[in-house]
Amino acid sequence: MIIWIILFINVVCGLIAAAIYHDKGGEALTGFMAGLILGIFGIILVALPKADQKELDRRAVEWGQKRLCPFCKELIQPDAIVCPHCRSDLRKDMSHA
Ligand SMILES: [Zn+2]
Repeated sequence: MIIWIILFINVVCGLIAAAIYHDKGGEALTGFMAGLILGIFGIILVALPKADQKELDRRAVEWGQKRLCPFCKELIQPDAIVCPHCRSDLRKDMSHA
């Protein structure tokens, strides 16, 4: 009997996690699986880290600590001359950075 209660709770957690994850632009099925397998921790997992990282990235760009590579759109150091992600030469882009 208890197994059905746990299963029910995890399905509900899966649906909540799916809604949250889908809201963040992820695959709803991935969020659902996280909630289904991890229960309440799945919800925390999809709700917290991604939002935090996005917010940190946005602030870093806003405060001039980081900027976006014009070629691959990855975060890089503001004074980088070669993008560490795509190896593009950024020197010719410095003027309108
Ligand atoms: Zn790049």
